[in-house]
Amino acid sequence: MTYQAANNRYEGMKYNRVGRSGLKLPAISLGLWHNFGGVDRYENGRAMVRRAFDLGITHFDLANNYGPPPGSAEETFGQILKQDFAAYRDEMIISTKAGYHMWEGPYGEWGSRKYLISSLDQSLKRMNLEYVDIFYHHRPDPETPLEETMAALDHVVRQGKTLYVAISNYSAEQTARASEILKGLGTPCLIHQPSYSMFNRWIENGLQDVLEQEGIGSIVFSPLAGGLLTNRYLNGVPSDSRAAGPSVFLKTDQITDSKLSKVKLLNDLAQERGQSLAQMSLAWVLRGGKVTSALIGASRVEQIDDNVAALSRLDFSKEELGRIETILAA
Ligand code: NDP
Repeated sequence: MTYQAANNRYEGMKYNRVGRSGLKLPAISLGLWHNFGGVDRYENGRAMVRRAFDLGITHFDLANNYGPPPGSAEETFGQILKQDFAAYRDEMIISTKAGYHMWEGPYGEWGSRKYLISSLDQSLKRMNLEYVDIFYHHRPDPETPLEETMAALDHVVRQGKTLYVAISNYSAEQTARASEILKGLGTPCLIHQPSYSMFNRWIENGLQDVLEQEGIGSIVFSPLAGGLLTNRYLNGVPSDSRAAGPSVFLKTDQITDSKLSKVKLLNDLAQERGQSLAQMSLAWVLRGGKVTSALIGASRVEQIDDNVAALSRLDFSKEELGRIETILAA
């Protein structure tokens, strides 16, 4: 059946300005790293993208290597776009990235001009798009001069293959340097994509200050710690969960007793607030307005519903924030 987007799709979502740019992103964005690969059920992925868009999630995050196999999430997304979203391209912000290993030989990863430009061309073909909205350098390259990588980002903007450029996983210091180079080229860095959650707070030690100073937005990945900061693992490891699967980012041995006891206490607090733990975890990364968008993953439509409903209770009292600090410090 032809997809018709929900008429009220912009009513419940909150849109935040990205740094000092003209662009706004939804407070919750959807990433296609897991559950959209060639090995996954196409109709499930399609239903998630449709539901997300109906709830006002205008931003979809991809990378060259998402799958498995690598590249297949972009192919899946390209197919979904073709089937359902042809009429909605101008209402969508689509991002992709290059930086991790994608193909054999010396030109298939890191940060050379050769790799970045070839990779973006491949991504556009897989998604059947003329341009993406945001193109990221996915991780810093310790060998390629930063000037070369940033000049390649500037070049793809001038070619019309992306509207904005961005970086991911760069330290505070690397971000400051990258931003300076990009400003000099006339193509400011739009946004940074770091990891951030109650269990992973590295960006509070310097990176957030640099982003503020430079007018760069932030979209934080794994705000639910891959599912750990939800009710998913409260009673063991479900067989259909990420931890039970092959993901390298969340393995059963990371779900320690000490982590689980914190998750349980956080879950109690979330319930007192009238929220699910997933909702409180998302509200927490968005607290204080420093983060532009929380970049979630999902394996089913219901999780997207649950997560977007976080927006109805974003505020925290001082006492609640204090309790969270105490739980995390234990
Ligand atoms: P999350 O921390 O949001 O984890 C998502 C997982 O949590 C889901 O797959 C699901 O697990 C579980 N989950 C989600 N919502 C709920 C809910 N309401 N209740 C219970 N469980 C829930 O983020 P990801 O780690 O998936 O990362 C999100 C995105 O960030 C990626 O898709 C990608 O776009 C980006 N990313 C970027 C990286 C980078 O280097 N720039 C690195 C990693 C991710 P389950 O499958 O068990 O149901």
